[in-house]
Amino acid sequence: MDRLSSHKATKEVVQKHNFKFSKSLGQNFLIDDNVIDKILSGARVSEEDNIIEVGPGIGTLTREMGKTAKKVVAIEIDKSLIPILKETLEEFDNVEVINKDILKVDIQELVKEKLNGGPVKLIANLPYYITTPIVMKFLEEDIPVTDIVVMVQKEVADRMNALPGSKDYGALSIAVQYYCETEIVAKAPRHMFVPQPNVDSTVIGLHVREEKKYKVDNEEIFFKTVKASFGQRRKTLLNSLGGLGFLNKDEIREVLQEANIDEKRRGETLSIEEFANLANKVTEYQNRK
Ligand code: SAM
Repeated sequence: MDRLSSHKATKEVVQKHNFKFSKSLGQNFLIDDNVIDKILSGARVSEEDNIIEVGPGIGTLTREMGKTAKKVVAIEIDKSLIPILKETLEEFDNVEVINKDILKVDIQELVKEKLNGGPVKLIANLPYYITTPIVMKFLEEDIPVTDIVVMVQKEVADRMNALPGSKDYGALSIAVQYYCETEIVAKAPRHMFVPQPNVDSTVIGLHVREEKKYKVDNEEIFFKTVKASFGQRRKTLLNSLGGLGFLNKDEIREVLQEANIDEKRRGETLSIEEFANLANKVTEYQNRK
């Protein structure tokens, strides 16, 4: 069996197993060779790679990764896909399928047990309803991940990739870019999937930096500051930072002055560097109290 990414091949597998697509599990299978090739090259898949895939579906992308990578662990929640994957991935000794909900998997443990302790790459066509929790789980849980190359809804990719001042820039842009360099790898309009979803998709590459780029003294306060600043989009920082809950107006004014940031600016105009500086001043202020 070769590629599964043509409409015909996917249809054959689905029909043979009488598989019923589940909308609530975000089951839209990719049927475009070109995008699959771009995912592999965007993730620079090589024979040294240990890969985690979330939601292999019928194994379309899994097979292509299995042809090159050292090992692929694919986590699929839908048990009705397991016998199909057994068949479509039959010839790959280096691919292991686990029938679990990714949000309930201890990824650190999995990397230790099955992927030689890492490093790992996360490569997937993600189910839309949990894109952000999955990506943030990999970035925040101290997992030795070097690259995340994932298909997500176009609007989510735009937000992850946005620069200060643009309409898409917000807490998600900062949460991702705090850890990674971002890159748009490929566009995947809705007609490249079966069944066809009612949104377009984009493959985004998140390349985790080896060294931290931003000097943040207290990450919890940094992310709280970001959250408060975007809490009410049209408010100036002087007003929105009240959302932190522990600084009064005079104190906010003082902190902004110390950080050299005009109190009339809005969160969406601040670079990550400026947020880091601001959060460090908030932390300093807290420590002095
Ligand atoms: N990789 C396949 C492809 O590209 O054609 C399928 C991608 S489809 C967008 C998303 C896949 O994620 C489905 O197979 C779905 O069953 C699976 N899935 C949904 N929720 C999941 C979860 N919580 N944990 C693991 N897999 C999940």
